[in-house]
Amino acid sequence: MTASAFPSRQELEDWDRQHVWHPFTPMQEYAQERPLIIERAEGAMLYDLDGNAYIDGVSSMWCNVHGHCVPELDQAIHDQLGKVAHSTLLGIGNVPSIRLARKLAEIAPEGLTRVFFSDSGATAVEVALKMAFQFWQQTTPAKPQKTRFAALQGAYHGDTLGDVSVGDIGRFHNRFKPLLFETFRVPSPNCYRCPMGLQPTSCLLECVQELERLIEREAEQLAAVVIEPGVQGAAGMIPLPANYLRRLRDATHRHDVLLIADEVAVGFGRTGTMFACQHESVVPDFLCVAKGLSGGYLPMAATLTHDRIFQAFLGDALSGTTFFHGHTFTGNPLGAAVSLASIDRLLEGGVLAGLAERVQLLQRWAERLRDLPIVGNVRQLGLLMGVELVQNRETKTPFPAERRLGHHICRKLREQGVLIRPLRDVLVVMPPLGIDVSLLDRLCEFVYHAISTTPME
Ligand SMILES: *Cc1c(COP(=O)(O)O)cnc(C)c1O
Repeated sequence: MTASAFPSRQELEDWDRQHVWHPFTPMQEYAQERPLIIERAEGAMLYDLDGNAYIDGVSSMWCNVHGHCVPELDQAIHDQLGKVAHSTLLGIGNVPSIRLARKLAEIAPEGLTRVFFSDSGATAVEVALKMAFQFWQQTTPAKPQKTRFAALQGAYHGDTLGDVSVGDIGRFHNRFKPLLFETFRVPSPNCYRCPMGLQPTSCLLECVQELERLIEREAEQLAAVVIEPGVQGAAGMIPLPANYLRRLRDATHRHDVLLIADEVAVGFGRTGTMFACQHESVVPDFLCVAKGLSGGYLPMAATLTHDRIFQAFLGDALSGTTFFHGHTFTGNPLGAAVSLASIDRLLEGGVLAGLAERVQLLQRWAERLRDLPIVGNVRQLGLLMGVELVQNRETKTPFPAERRLGHHICRKLREQGVLIRPLRDVLVVMPPLGIDVSLLDRLCEFVYHAISTTPME
């Protein structure tokens, strides 16, 4: 056994319960079960302290791109470690962050040449919100009354208070309402749960027209619209209908409202293109990236914007136009080095090009899953899939919340060596992009089997 004699497995389990407060985790329940503790990983497999293997079907929380312990990525960190692990970007530079900024400017939608680094998806979006807010006060002519934001129902943009203010997931966010600023809310184009029973095309029209009307009506006070391009992730993997993002971009252009694209979950190939905005040739004013930026190796994030925004922050050092925001580990050299290696592997390494085969396989599984009696809907885009479980397919009646079906199915899968995390009763399948085709097939087979053997009652 490779597990060192000290601390023992038992001690680790005890210390985990005694000291580690896990995010998004009901801790009372957690303390009553035996924790799963990962010790090492390879490719798309994770191994626990007993050496049990698990398929990483959730990409270690939607961030892993090439798998774990990828030699080139490990090497990039080793090489950088021999030089400097961290130095600040406050007022000075470092080599990997400069190279990464250059690389991001090259691969991002045209014109997004200014790169502000931070360390999580939450900070990447928070930075965009604050930049948008400050921009309107400093641009010529200034429009200081543009202070508000619009976002979609079911939006998720991270857990800082600014992000929670634009977010709309009741069970995560309602608690903090008294601390938040008010956001204009527009309907999510959720064709699967349409309250009006509309077909996708008319649903798009209704939803997008409501958004367009809001932008026109409130342009005077609207600083920016925030959106998750491609798919609303935490809402339950809700894809945006074709043309929605395009029309949003056009409307924001017409009325001089900024567009913040939160590609934290979908950036770096997840939907089949490098960025989801590129499906509709949309160039946002802010592009927020994190999760997959470093290949899922290290905390690394960036907010990209264009020169019109950047210029408004220039001026005399004492003029107050500086962007007074930053994080200690902004532009961390290790994170930047591994991000560069990850992007290289996506492009030159052919990972992005090799995605089509995996996506087709996932599509075939999506078709099969749709036939299962408790599957209300399967939403698949690129290498992500949400399988929504319902009690009644015709009426789309959900299972009672108390049944916690999504949770229990994922628990059962865990015993079988598959790690996925549900969003309520939506099972999310989101493996590393570099997963072996045969392993992806097995992962889907397990999920299919777990659902098909679940009793209705
Ligand atoms: C995960 C996520 C975030 C937050 O990223 P963190 O790194 O967890 O702070 C923001 N937006 C979207 C769309 C996400 O999926």
